[in-house]
Amino acid sequence: MSTPPTSWVEGAAGSLFDVDNLPWGVFSLPGEEPRVGVRIGDRVLDLAPVAAAEMLDVHHVFQETSLNALMAEGRAVRESVRRWLTGLLTDETERDLVEPHLVPLTDVTMHLPVEVADYVDFYASLEHASNVGRIFRPDQEPLLPNWRHLPVGYHGRSGTVVASGTRVVRPCGQRKAPTEDAPSYGPSRRLDIEAELGFVVGSPSAMGDRVGVDAFADHVFGVVGLNDWSARDIQAWEYVPLGPFLGKSFATSISQWVTPVEALDAAWVDLPVQDPRPLDYLVSTGSTGEGPKGLDIDVEIELNGEVVSRPPYRTMYWSPAQMLAHTTVNGASLRTGDLYGSGTISGPAPDQRGSFLELSWGGTEPFGDGRTFLEDGDVVTLRYTAPGTGGGRIALGEVTGQIEPAR
Ligand code: CA
Repeated sequence: MSTPPTSWVEGAAGSLFDVDNLPWGVFSLPGEEPRVGVRIGDRVLDLAPVAAAEMLDVHHVFQETSLNALMAEGRAVRESVRRWLTGLLTDETERDLVEPHLVPLTDVTMHLPVEVADYVDFYASLEHASNVGRIFRPDQEPLLPNWRHLPVGYHGRSGTVVASGTRVVRPCGQRKAPTEDAPSYGPSRRLDIEAELGFVVGSPSAMGDRVGVDAFADHVFGVVGLNDWSARDIQAWEYVPLGPFLGKSFATSISQWVTPVEALDAAWVDLPVQDPRPLDYLVSTGSTGEGPKGLDIDVEIELNGEVVSRPPYRTMYWSPAQMLAHTTVNGASLRTGDLYGSGTISGPAPDQRGSFLELSWGGTEPFGDGRTFLEDGDVVTLRYTAPGTGGGRIALGEVTGQIEPAR
């Protein structure tokens, strides 16, 4: 077996950002317009001048202020650009051309990488859905009857999807605790996080068509870290019967970097057993006979510099491909820039829970240094790593945010 290529870029070889990663982002230098770059080691490759010099057909997409034009080019272009980049960054003879366009990360400002079209959030973790059921409905079956038959989801607010690093203002709204007779208005007292993965759509689909469970990589461009900030007190009062609304829509943070799906080729793993067997449209019809796969991605939740949980994405019940197939099974179309979240990632162990709601068991069992929900000034950072195709590990984009007091 040949040794996988590594990059000549200083510090990249063997790091979490070697050529088997190459996440996409949108960066700017002081006084300049944002444009598209790719991360290698601790640098951003400024692609517009390199692609123009190399007369790449799609060089114009790198001058855009979001990844949408690149994403809309589709899977074949995404894969061929990745092969071209791998060549540039591993072949020493390309060094003179490329090196002047490598910019240290410390010199750039990163931006929201995607102009988000529609935003959907799922609820794909069996452990999370069961924990929430036990906390909110202790006298009933934790899972509702539909949960094992379809990936439960809702439409969120794309206009408040923000890039990692954006501060989050504590939301105000109607709150009514079960012990209170009437609702009151004011700042959320139960502000929370949800550690998730997000999937970004590149190639659209036509209204009336369905995207099959085997067409994931034809439509999904890449993966982002995602924090679905959640006001539990607002959510608990408003969500029956139509689901989440203002308890979620004030902010959703995604990573500054989008990991292309090809970088996760070594991370696909079997899903947990799905019993009962889902309906046919959620089961593979491909020639390989393999069903939809999960992803072996490790997640870390850090609160003010301390790791408080390590959720494992591999335990998720519904696969990213099943969520995409379900989204379009009624003929709803996909648009370039659509984003869908996995839902909170929670594993079976108490220190694998992906929200403070679960870590503090509804606020009744403080964790860490006596913590239940978020306080003003708190900084939460989500980190993600996965096996890379080069035999080591790659890092996905991290998501960080600090809570500002209510206004
Ligand atoms: Ca969520």
